[in-house]
Amino acid sequence: MSAEPAIGRPESDTGHLVNWKLIETLAVKPHKHLNIVKGEQYGVMVDGVFDHCSNGVSEVMEEARTVQHLCDLAGVPEGWSYSAHIDARVFLLMTDLFTARERLSRIIGWHKRESGQGGLVGDYCTECGTRWPCDTRQMAEGTYVDEEGPS
Ligand SMILES: [Zn+2]
Repeated sequence: MSAEPAIGRPESDTGHLVNWKLIETLAVKPHKHLNIVKGEQYGVMVDGVFDHCSNGVSEVMEEARTVQHLCDLAGVPEGWSYSAHIDARVFLLMTDLFTARERLSRIIGWHKRESGQGGLVGDYCTECGTRWPCDTRQMAEGTYVDEEGPS
């Protein structure tokens, strides 16, 4: 039997850790690119008539505001006009992620375990010559553990 998580859902459906407390905090924090009035209900126009049943519009607006804040935290350029919209900013975030992944995969490809005759493997990295797995390989894979702990 497991204990109840302290902050709602500790993981997303993908199994990755999500800081829901941060998301809940950002969802209600004003952002200059989205003018969301606190306590206001946002609806949709249906056949020219305003529908007070929001059908989740308010929720989507809060999520959009959260995304703007998360882009700020990630250092995505704010831009102006259309480039300040969340789709443009998330696109920049995505391209930065792809670039970082590509760079890390190249580093992983360079730092390999030495191989020997008859399918044997060595104890050192072919690139930097240090003991396998080398620190660079572990950092590129995200498996590096700082033995001295956080400073
Ligand atoms: Zn190496």
